[in-house]
Amino acid sequence: MAKRDYYDVLGVEKNASADEIKRVYRRMALKYHPDKNPGDKEAEAKFKECAEAYEVLSDAEKRKRYDQYGHEGLRGAGVHDYSHMNVQDISDMFGDMFGDLFGDMFGGGRRRSSRSHGQSRGYDLETSVELTLEEVAKGTEKTIEFTRQDICTDCGGTGAAKGKAPTRCPTCGGTGQVQRAGLGGFFQMVSTCPTCQGTGQVITDPCRKCRGTGFIPKKRTLSVKIPAGVHEGQGIRVSGEGEPGKHGGPRGDLYCYVRVKAHPFLMRDGSNLVVTVPLRFTQMTLGDTIDVPTLDGTRQLKISAGTQHGDIFRIRGQGLPELRSGRSGDLLVRVMVEIPKKLTSEQQDLLQKFAQTEGKDNSSESTSFFDRLKRHLGADK
Ligand SMILES: [Zn+2]
Ligand SMILES: [Zn+2]
Repeated sequence: MAKRDYYDVLGVEKNASADEIKRVYRRMALKYHPDKNPGDKEAEAKFKECAEAYEVLSDAEKRKRYDQYGHEGLRGAGVHDYSHMNVQDISDMFGDMFGDLFGDMFGGGRRRSSRSHGQSRGYDLETSVELTLEEVAKGTEKTIEFTRQDICTDCGGTGAAKGKAPTRCPTCGGTGQVQRAGLGGFFQMVSTCPTCQGTGQVITDPCRKCRGTGFIPKKRTLSVKIPAGVHEGQGIRVSGEGEPGKHGGPRGDLYCYVRVKAHPFLMRDGSNLVVTVPLRFTQMTLGDTIDVPTLDGTRQLKISAGTQHGDIFRIRGQGLPELRSGRSGDLLVRVMVEIPKKLTSEQQDLLQKFAQTEGKDNSSESTSFFDRLKRHLGADK
């Protein structure tokens, strides 16, 4: 396939300035970049064609030769064969000269981190912390112990055996980067050195204790503040307490996952607490004052005469604080009636006598239920 005119490829005039060419090329490269056109072979071909045109037109010497003699004039001038290069390498090449905008568009974060001497952030760690409901209510500070990688005490993190310093990497001469195929002095194709992974150093005699990694597992004790109102399963992030990064990169984070111990009486329902209290039928019939458990002891609760099974009493402000607002929930007291399973003969007599006096006013629900049932059966006939 015949090569197109480089000026046509970029769509600029023959007398376009270097700045204009750069601006136009950046626009074209962003438009046709395969990251933005996944799987589009035509866009990829255009991207490569633009890169080639830009290499020539942005280099005064090459541009002069091209202007005078056309494509023929560039023979032996060291213009890259872009059709055989991969997209990442092309992006790396031009990303460097366009700086952040270009770099970010093409996943610059990843490239930047790989360039800064192979640094990368460490892994996050997870641990759990067990709280009582009382601690959830007030917030607390917990001492946690966990194991993470720490700098090896034998080699001081270098990974080299005692008395043996790491030596300069023979592949990159200590820079951590290798340059591939110079581009007429204008472009540099820089990539991370494959021998030392960008550190610039190699270890010939590894430390026995850490096997050359520079790190050994170590117990760590930390005090972690837990805010009031946290929920079961919630993770509290302690930044910078995870595993160390590679080659001096920052540590990851530690996540403390909250487990809440079961309380002997109180159940959690959002910011409310719920307690179920069994009562004698006489207490519910005649009324009474009872003690109900709270997070800091007990509270007295008045049970009104004629309380029904399943009724719920609300004690305001005796729940848990909401995590964000700090507003306190309530304590909900649900009462159940306990029917006596055993009666003395005296109790039996008393209740028999009571039963004989029972009338409609004592049990309106029950009376109306059976009245309706009678009517229903009568209507069926
Ligand atoms: Zn070591
Ligand atoms: Zn190296």
